[in-house]
Amino acid sequence: MQSFAARMSMVAMALVITLVGLTLACAAGPSVAADNVVLIVVDGLRPDALKLAKVPTIDGFIKRGSSTMKAQTVMPSLTLPAVASMLTGLLVDQHGITWNEYEPMRGFLKAPTAFEIASFAAGRLGAMFFGKEKLLHVAKPDRGLLVQVCSVSEAGCTAQKIVTDALTAYRTATEGKPSLFFIHLADPDLAGHEKGWMSKSYLQAVEASDRAIATLVKGFEELGLYKHTAFIVTADHGGHDKTHGTTAPEDMTIPWIAYGPGIKSGYEIKRPVSIIDTAATVLRALGVTDYYVEWNSKTVDEIFTD
Ligand SMILES: [Zn+2]
Repeated sequence: MQSFAARMSMVAMALVITLVGLTLACAAGPSVAADNVVLIVVDGLRPDALKLAKVPTIDGFIKRGSSTMKAQTVMPSLTLPAVASMLTGLLVDQHGITWNEYEPMRGFLKAPTAFEIASFAAGRLGAMFFGKEKLLHVAKPDRGLLVQVCSVSEAGCTAQKIVTDALTAYRTATEGKPSLFFIHLADPDLAGHEKGWMSKSYLQAVEASDRAIATLVKGFEELGLYKHTAFIVTADHGGHDKTHGTTAPEDMTIPWIAYGPGIKSGYEIKRPVSIIDTAATVLRALGVTDYYVEWNSKTVDEIFTD
């Protein structure tokens, strides 16, 4: 039988091991790259779909930006846990959003997100546009965060509607303009569950997502924002057959594409990228560097020109 002291020292050891696993991120240094950052999550987008579908806007980002087609999501490869990891820079068991449905009683994510850090550390306002109501769990209210959601069960809740809402929200914002955007396009995931990943209707949904991104780009051009905006296009997970959520490479592998001021053109990212690295990279792209947070997110430094 173990003594109380021995058991306590094992608990302490486990705690130390947990803490060592977290990177103490205290970033400093690099110059401001972009005035705005738009993080676009194409739900269920597999990298190989970009080869089969006609996606001129995303192709343009790949050609003139930095990208990898081998980024990895977290387990379980499901929207809500994965997006929570993307925004908090933490593994699923660390941020605690283990479920994948809208369960309002469970409240908001507890860990700090890149949106909160941008707001509190640098006064940068955020705006989030979701095509699935369950993502409200990651939209923890903070000073000025603008949130709009349409339900997947609504007929008109398409990628085009989401981007149109984002542009309208920017135009009509009176209490300060947002500079960090989260745009969630659900269409490919819905088609994948209905007709199968890589099916004709799935690829058409990928093309619709690309057209929505084109609408967003055009809107940013008209608003005079485009030249000063960095875009990150990625996914929450992939998929196979009519499902996802497993450790299969088809479910885990996602594209990760960054384009904009201060980001290398035509560059293929060498190091392994995790969805978790998105949080730190978004902040660096936005020029928010003076903050302290404990997370696993590591800036994808090699994409930046300085
Ligand atoms: Zn799904």
